[in-house]
Amino acid sequence: MIITLMGAPGSGKGTQGRSLASSLGIPYLASGDLIRRAMADRSRWGEQVRSYIERGLYVPDEDIVPVFLQALVASNPVGSRIGGVLDGFPRTAEQALALDKALGAFSPPISQIALVLDVPEDVLIARLSGRWLCSGCNASYNVQSHPPIMVGVCDVCGRALMQRVDDRRDTIQERLLVYSTSTRPVVDFYAARGSLRHVNGDDAELKVRESLLTAARSALAVSL
Ligand SMILES: [Zn+2]
Repeated sequence: MIITLMGAPGSGKGTQGRSLASSLGIPYLASGDLIRRAMADRSRWGEQVRSYIERGLYVPDEDIVPVFLQALVASNPVGSRIGGVLDGFPRTAEQALALDKALGAFSPPISQIALVLDVPEDVLIARLSGRWLCSGCNASYNVQSHPPIMVGVCDVCGRALMQRVDDRRDTIQERLLVYSTSTRPVVDFYAARGSLRHVNGDDAELKVRESLLTAARSALAVSL
């Protein structure tokens, strides 16, 4: 079973993806990690990926899909059914289609579903704009979930806290827009196949975790 997890910046996708994978006993595969792994091994695909990344280019679909498949197979114990929670992949409808074809070619075919973590935009903005970093030791804080004892001062080393450009309000709105525009075709792809489930991500972490697990299990029961 392959689960593609989608969610905007600030949706908690990384944390939730990892815990979903461990609850289901399958690997968690973030696209950045997979790309780094592919570049580290000196395979033909690895070298091809490296040549794009080093030029600051996106890796084209026909190269990225085999790289991900290879990593997916390598992340699973030999002889077991291939499974994984994918984060950041597929990034386009073309990649989703290519992945689907590749998974369908396994015997028996590997089922694939997509889960979307829904969090209202104002909540995302509040979460993201609350992020502060220490200018000295890099400790990170969030004014909502993990505030420093003194406003603007690091608990660990006492230096001033600052915000990354990415976490400023105007940049956040731009990031959210880019996210929703770029993922819409992928969401539509899975929705058209009936393999998309929405999960409320605006809830306590444990509650979201349960909802994701329930959604994954019910979607998989239908697709098997
Ligand atoms: Zn500090």
